[in-house]
Amino acid sequence: MPEMPEVETVRRGLIAQVKGRKITNVEIRYPNLITGDVDQFKEFVTGATIDDVGRRAKFLLIHLDNGYTIISHLRMEGRYRISADPSAIDKHSHAIFTLDNGQKLIYNDVRKFGRMQLWNTDDLENNKSIQKLGPEPLSDAFTFNNLKPRIMRHRKDIKTVLLDQSVMSGLGNIYVDEVLWKVKIHPETPANHLNDIDIQNIIEVSNEEMEKAIIAGGSTVRSYVDATGHKGNMQNSLKVYGKEGTPCPRCGTEIKKIKVNGRGTHFCPKCQVVK
Ligand SMILES: [Zn+2]
Repeated sequence: MPEMPEVETVRRGLIAQVKGRKITNVEIRYPNLITGDVDQFKEFVTGATIDDVGRRAKFLLIHLDNGYTIISHLRMEGRYRISADPSAIDKHSHAIFTLDNGQKLIYNDVRKFGRMQLWNTDDLENNKSIQKLGPEPLSDAFTFNNLKPRIMRHRKDIKTVLLDQSVMSGLGNIYVDEVLWKVKIHPETPANHLNDIDIQNIIEVSNEEMEKAIIAGGSTVRSYVDATGHKGNMQNSLKVYGKEGTPCPRCGTEIKKIKVNGRGTHFCPKCQVVK
């Protein structure tokens, strides 16, 4: 699943190629892709110019010049491609936006879990999906005072709490494992057992990990590629995710993989202790 750094990489790839372009035609081949009325979506998007491409957590925000924004969630396998070549369109291309320079912005989604929704730009914070998102790394709201009460009010394990997008948003399974390894906290530690230093460490390391991952262009786990078809290389610097059976880069103990609340979880049994 693309995580926040991958979505940010897609955003940067898209903005360079679509900002300022007018959408001259919209084709929706898989109507369930659109949350809401498909005809209305096409009507409002056709003829609009793309003002900007933003992001909130894992949601891409394609801002149009008519006061509307396309909220796009890639979910498991969604990707954008930009091409003028008709052969770039295949059976997995579910939305095709023709741009005024002859290029097509093509949304592909093998598993069809991704969704798009048109929403009033001034009212984005009231959108049901966006409203419930907690503060995200590298944003002004990602502070100790904001995060501490959100984390500490939970008695369940810290892994599950950090994955909960209403507590903090943007970190998925890969980066939560990486962050917990860095801060030396066992993923099954009850969230309310953490102390202030732990919370501060989680904030700092989450910021660092996200920044590093964005620079690296995201992780290539599964079939992620950015809008221009480039694979990210963050997977080369992952320390624990997918590394079960290999030595911990810090202490040499074998990395273990367990299930925490149903999610595959990687950790070092020696340097990550339950509190
Ligand atoms: Zn270790």
